[in-house]
Amino acid sequence: MCCPKPAPPPPPVAAEMEKGRIIQGRGGLYTVRDEAGQGFVLRAKNKFRRANITPLVGDNVDFTPGRGEEHGWIEEIHPRRSYCLRPPVANITQLVITLAPEPVPDLLLVDKLLVFSFHQRIEPVLAVNKADLDPDMPGEIEQAYRGAGVKTLALSAQTGDGLEGLRRAMAGHITCFAGQSGVGKSTLIAALTGEDLETGEISQRIRRGRQTTRHISLIEKKGLQVLDTPGFSLLDLPEEMPPEDLRQDYPDFAHFAHQCRFAPCLHDREPGCAVDQAAREGKIDTGRLERYRQLLSQAQDNWRERYD
Ligand code: GDP
Ligand code: ZN
Repeated sequence: MCCPKPAPPPPPVAAEMEKGRIIQGRGGLYTVRDEAGQGFVLRAKNKFRRANITPLVGDNVDFTPGRGEEHGWIEEIHPRRSYCLRPPVANITQLVITLAPEPVPDLLLVDKLLVFSFHQRIEPVLAVNKADLDPDMPGEIEQAYRGAGVKTLALSAQTGDGLEGLRRAMAGHITCFAGQSGVGKSTLIAALTGEDLETGEISQRIRRGRQTTRHISLIEKKGLQVLDTPGFSLLDLPEEMPPEDLRQDYPDFAHFAHQCRFAPCLHDREPGCAVDQAAREGKIDTGRLERYRQLLSQAQDNWRERYD
């Protein structure tokens, strides 16, 4: 009888992998919260740096928790459903585009944020705050954006009016607020979650100067998941967007576009443009169409310069 073959060495015991979401990243250390709500401080495995991948707040990850004093490791990052560079966040599912009677609304920014949302398949919401200052404004905004694939909410962070409606709209989402400075984003986030953002932001500005980007955290409070980044303002169109794709992000034009004389029609003053006609008849907001043409011209410039 021959000798029995030596048994193969046992496979290395795989450490227990757990699942969680990055809620904060700071100096190469990431705070990850698991489904039970427990927090872990982790580092990212070197393979991510080699692949040029930076873990982002909002990322869903597999991780091995640390033991005692030892930190654990982020082992895998799940595919992202949305991705944003400024601010650097992953997987947001909702953008609350906030505007107010004061400061004077920048509707070009609103339109860009809508394009960004549709492009990334993020649900946009138009939150018209400070309705206490001008009760007519929410209705005017709703009218201008009718058919544009976005719900308008009238709010006042000051009086609390409309906040429950916003809270309901945010349930189940990972939400980011966006919009001009001073429209009341921090006040709204504070009113909804009880987190005071202002203090943190002011003290960090003083310490680190205004140019530095704030650290972003995902607040999980009172059944909501909100990024604490009131500084979000998005000024560029999605990079590398073919100009002819822009009109796809205007559901309010789609209803008329199939009647344009030319196919495809960019709705940029081509003869027989049904979108232009609809705007002249008051069926589409003329401001929306004018701003679309501004964005189209920006997209055309970007497209021409993309290999420079
Ligand atoms: P952010 O820059 O968008 O984060 O705006 P802030 O939250 O810092 O608010 C800017 C200013 O608007 C602050 O002075 C707030 O007190 C004020 N504000 C916020 N919400 C309301 C509101 O609903 N009504 C009124 N009248 N003022 C508000
Ligand atoms: Zn047209």
